[in-house]
Parts: sequence; structure tokens; C-alpha cells
Amino acid sequence: MKQTKIVATIGPASESKEVLHKMVEAGMNVVRLNFSHGEYAWHKAVINRVRELSHELDTPIGILADMQGPRIRTEVEEPIAVQKGTRVRLSDIARKEQLETIDIPTVLFDMTGIIDGVDIDHTVLIEDGIVELVVKEKNEHCVIAEAKNDGIIKNRKGVILPDSHLILSILSPKDKKDLRFVVEEGVDFVGLSFVGTAKDVEDVRSTMKEMFPEKTYFPKLVSKIERKEAIKNLTAIVKASDAVMVARGDLGVEMPESEVAILQKQIIAESLRAAKPVIVATQMLKSMTENPRPTRAEVSDVSNAVIDHADAVMLSEESAMGKYPVETVAMMAEIIGKTEESPFDDLYQTLDLNFHSEYATMLRSVYELAKSFHSKAILLLSMSGYTARLLSHFRPESKMFVATNNRNTYNELALVWGIDPYLFEDNQKLDTFIDCLMRETKKDAKLSIGDQVVVFHGRTPDQDTMRLVGIREIR
Ligand code: PGA
Ligand code: MN
Repeated sequence: MKQTKIVATIGPASESKEVLHKMVEAGMNVVRLNFSHGEYAWHKAVINRVRELSHELDTPIGILADMQGPRIRTEVEEPIAVQKGTRVRLSDIARKEQLETIDIPTVLFDMTGIIDGVDIDHTVLIEDGIVELVVKEKNEHCVIAEAKNDGIIKNRKGVILPDSHLILSILSPKDKKDLRFVVEEGVDFVGLSFVGTAKDVEDVRSTMKEMFPEKTYFPKLVSKIERKEAIKNLTAIVKASDAVMVARGDLGVEMPESEVAILQKQIIAESLRAAKPVIVATQMLKSMTENPRPTRAEVSDVSNAVIDHADAVMLSEESAMGKYPVETVAMMAEIIGKTEESPFDDLYQTLDLNFHSEYATMLRSVYELAKSFHSKAILLLSMSGYTARLLSHFRPESKMFVATNNRNTYNELALVWGIDPYLFEDNQKLDTFIDCLMRETKKDAKLSIGDQVVVFHGRTPDQDTMRLVGIREIR
């Protein structure tokens, strides 16, 4: 059993139940639906298929609905060929009428108010930086920028303004519609693209509550770290989020590519300190979109994410539209397995949590106990998933089996490093969850007679129950 989890994006290559089934068997733990593409009917069908599979295979599968977010796009009547030094006028669609006729080409942004935050010397990156411009002149309704390289500015391409202060709502009108849909569908996680501040995350939380005042359960929020501003506000964003994604694609456009590996380490460390799950994403096995085997550099990248102690690694187009979705998941699982067998991922110096509590200290002692007795496993109960995340933070060598009575928690724990969740919907069983866990893990051949385990009684449905830590043996 691997400890690091796999998130795989679903698309035309992997939408069928048969392929999804094979991907789960190969090691996929969480499916990602990219809301930059696809109709609601398609997303709904995939969600239903995944839920069916989870029941049939008796295994948790998390569903992450990734919002497109406020991505600015170009509006040009015709592609504009620029050469180094070509001057281009930039403005936004709302100001189209106010623009005078001049004889330099005009590129409009499809969102209003953007141009106000753009100043002289700011960089403008179009289509992942294929065309780079720098602002030379600022006027009332537009700016004039100069191309730094030869290229073609096409219609509807993404625009990144790493230096500009953008007042953009974290949810575009499309995102709001999508958010309503995915909350209704009961997905486990919502991915937030282009988060800039902790307030962005809080705004989404309150939007969901306003949309559904009667609901008590909401999807967990995964902040995608992909803006320069998010790096500045990292600690506060991690604190406000339920999980984090190192979104290396856009991050490597906003920040120099050369810093991405270091930023990955910083973001992971910050997430571990807050006991929040963290996903490393983008281009992990990209060449497998076309080829049956990855490049050596890609293998090394996946291994290193495991050594960095990420909770999960992610596949994008490889699994969504590649030729080998199942083989790619299997390859990722194999790399994870080999890396975890090695001693290199064991070198985990527990990072001090960025908060202190009696409960967290208690979980540390559970971890210490399992470590000093080389226990095979730690067995515990977690209703909200919090106890499981706290224990996982220490990245123990022992297996971690977690009983829960909450299907949402069961699915959410699919993302958390090393946690193997068991669902006991029958509350009767929760009173005896340790016995149940012992029996079930033995039945699944994950533990055997004579194995020594650490058990931890944290919060139980009956809040009066004493908290107990102890060592037991599988019989
Ligand atoms: P995206 O996010 O694929 O939705 O852009 C991931 C990334 O930017 O790395
Ligand atoms: Mn992105």
C-alpha cells in the first residue's frame, strides 16, 4: 500500500466506468474535474460513475471540482504578429468605445477594471508567456506596451499580469454558476484557481453558505498557489484553506521557472505545519500523454515530490486526454512505491505545527509511541478528519487505519497522506470501532495475527468518553 495519494484529472480518455475502475485499481485516490472544460451533463455523469465505483469497490474516492477562476483572456479581432519592440495598446472590453483610433494594434482584456492596476514597467504575459510585453506608457483608458520578443497574440488566450494589483473577484460569474452546481452535486473538494489572499478563500466559504443557507456540509476548499501574490500571503492562505495545491503551471509563469522547485518545498512545508493536505500538480508525467514511458526527469520529479512529503501528486492532461491514462496512474504508483520503500522519504523532521493545542500534543505522543515500539499500525477514530490529519502530519512509518461514521470524511481522507479510512455508518460499531478496525484490516490482509498496534480513542460520538492511548495485539 502506498502512502502518497494520486489525484487524476478525468477527461475523454478516462471518462468511462471501465477506465475509471482500472485507474482506481492502479492507485488513483481522488478524481479531478476541470471546470475550464465540459458540460454539466458530462460532469454529472462522471460524478455518478465515481460514486457508484466507490460503493462497488468499497473504497473512498474523493472528487475535486476545480474552478476555472478569474482567468483574464485576450480579445483581438485578428491575430496580431508582433516583433521585439512592436508597440501594442492594451485596454479592456468595457472601454472599447472610449478608445481613440490610432494606428497601433489593440488587445482588449475580457474583464473590466484590469487596466487600472497596470502601471509603467509592469510585465504582461500572454499565452503562458509565449508573448511577453512590458508597459511603457499609461493613459486614462489604456496602456501602451512593447513586445520583448517575436510572437503572435491570438484571441481568447490567457493573460498573466504578475506585477499588477488586480481587483478581481475570486469567483467569476461562470465560477459562481459552477460552484452552485458542484455544491449541489456534493463533491468533496472545490479547487480555487488564482487565489491571492486569505480573504478570497473566506469569500468563497461565505458565498457557499449564502447560496445554500440550509446546508450543513460544504466541500473542502483547495487553494491553488499559482500567483506571486499568493506566495506573499502564503501562511494566511494556508490557514484559511482546507487543502493546498502547488499549481506549478501558472506558478511558473508568474514566478521565474527556476524558482518552482524551491517554491514547491516552501508551500509543502507551510501546509505540513498547518496539518493541511498538499497536492503537487502539473506536468508530472506529461510525456506519457503521448508515450507509454515517462522521461527520466519526470520519474525524478514524482520521486522528489514524495521525498518532499507532499500528501498527493496530480495528473492533468496525461490522464484526461492522454493515450495511456491507466498506465500513467500505474507508473505514478510504482514510482511512489519505490520511493517510499527507499530510506530517502523517511528523513522527515517533524515540522513544528503553526498552532498549539493539547490535542495536537496528544497526537504527537501517539506518533512517538508507535515509533518507539515499531508498531505495525495506528488505529484511530476520526469523525471530521481532523484527528487523522494531525497524526498524518508526523508522517509515521506505521500504517494508519481510521474509522469514521461520516461518508464525507471518508472521501476527504482519500487525499491525506498515509491514511487508510474505513467507513462504519452504523453508529453501534463506532462504540467498538477498534475491534471493528482490527477485524476488518485483518480480513483485508492489511494486518495479521500477532501484529502490534497503537490504538487511540480521541473524540467519540459520546463526548464523555475518555481519551485513551494504548498498545494492543491483533488476534
Ligand atoms: P490549471 O491549474 O491546470 O487549472 O491551470 C494547475 C496549474 O496551474 O498548475
Ligand atoms: Mn492554473
